[in-house]
Amino acid sequence: MTVKFYKQDHQVPLEMHKVRIVQKLYLPPIEERVRKINEAGNNTFLLQNRDVFMDMLTDSGVNAMSDLQQAAMLRADDAYAGSETCNRLKAALLDVFGTPFFLPAHQGRACENILSEAYVKPGMICPMNFHFTTAKAHITRCGGEVIELVRKEGLEPVNNEPFKGNFDIPRLKALIDERKKDIAFLRIETGTNLIGGQPISMENMLEVLSICRREGIRSVIDASLLQDNLYFIKTREPEYKHAPLRDIMHKLAEACDIIYFSSRKLGFSRGGAIITMHENIYRELMEFVPLYEGFLTYGGMEVRSMEAMAQGLYETLDMEVISQGPIFIEALVRELVDYGVPMIEPAGGLGAHINASAFLDGRIPSNQYPAGALASALYIAGGIRGMERGSISEQREPDGTERYAELELLRLAVPRRVFTLSQIKYCADRVKWLFDNRELIGGLKWIEEPSVLRFFFGRLAPTSDWQDKLARKFREDFGDSL
Ligand SMILES: *Cc1c(COP(=O)(O)O)cnc(C)c1O
Repeated sequence: MTVKFYKQDHQVPLEMHKVRIVQKLYLPPIEERVRKINEAGNNTFLLQNRDVFMDMLTDSGVNAMSDLQQAAMLRADDAYAGSETCNRLKAALLDVFGTPFFLPAHQGRACENILSEAYVKPGMICPMNFHFTTAKAHITRCGGEVIELVRKEGLEPVNNEPFKGNFDIPRLKALIDERKKDIAFLRIETGTNLIGGQPISMENMLEVLSICRREGIRSVIDASLLQDNLYFIKTREPEYKHAPLRDIMHKLAEACDIIYFSSRKLGFSRGGAIITMHENIYRELMEFVPLYEGFLTYGGMEVRSMEAMAQGLYETLDMEVISQGPIFIEALVRELVDYGVPMIEPAGGLGAHINASAFLDGRIPSNQYPAGALASALYIAGGIRGMERGSISEQREPDGTERYAELELLRLAVPRRVFTLSQIKYCADRVKWLFDNRELIGGLKWIEEPSVLRFFFGRLAPTSDWQDKLARKFREDFGDSL
């Protein structure tokens, strides 16, 4: 199933596709990188893409499409009602998931809006393995509360657990005993985005879902990151080693009430979908689509994206396709761990995560934002754009005090099928150099701090001239290299 290399201890990730369209990249010299990151307020969200060599900000909407997806987009049938594109997407969903009912939405969070509007009332709770930002925002906006039930290993930076995203079943049972009548729905996130893309096992999902069935609790699967999770089920859960991917997806769809996903991730496209086997659920939710999204045949999606989604979903049934993300991430994590860089382990889906506090030896206090400082330093070191997942991404308490994140992480997303192995090796190389020069990295302080979504729009400055020192060291070590 995987191609083995001669005399190599580790699996070398091999691209099972060839590149036929390319985008020229630009790597600015390091002095310019220092200038650019400061123009961007040391916030990688504010960097211009033309100044970024490796864009590892996110895996959302930036995955490479296949030739067949591009071809499918050409035949998109742009009709308001009764479009053939909609029929083709419905057919793909029925084939891949076995779900006959489909509601379109413009992206993943739009599905969350609809589900929360329909089912969450003030005082209700939504148990889940772990929250995702937009899911939580919609649930709390409707007066609900998110209760996280991930097993405790999920929150430890390093251990050997193959499924760190699993539910803690005893805690779920205790919660049901106590508050069953308050549960709006239970949400399973397949591939926990915010704790390192860590997967959940089929065994755990089926157990949780059978409890829901027995207790009459509505169950929802967020399948946005299902593609990577399927790869981990196939490779880490022996019972499913030989199970066809389609069978696994059908089994999941049968066991739960509702599946939704962002097609910016699942299906290498744009858009989103809510799917179900149950007509009554479809009827409960359908009124919200024309209200918030668009007519039931497109739900705010562009028809070409729908064609790309349909084809992309079929490609999700191919192990050689879905393995590409995880095996490149694993290669990056392994190379860095072997060098001594503190990473979240084991490697998960969507990207590699550096433990920034440990990377900086706990030297930078939380109020100088270790993960943000490391994100800035990595852009300077290599023109690489990661995403801060630490205290900058938190919001202050209503009284203005800081809420510091439990973990200060720098996420390096690996968009699927986008980077080659030499680019991944370049990234590892610059992280290693930075690690050896970590004592040069200093903190950040706010110069503009918006009261909401500060991680998107806020601007920071270095607390000293550490960035110039880092650039000088780079010149000493690399000469006139970019
Ligand atoms: C990205 C994501 C979403 C939201 O999807 P958008 O298309 O960005 O709105 C929801 N859940 C998970 C797990 C995600 O990764």
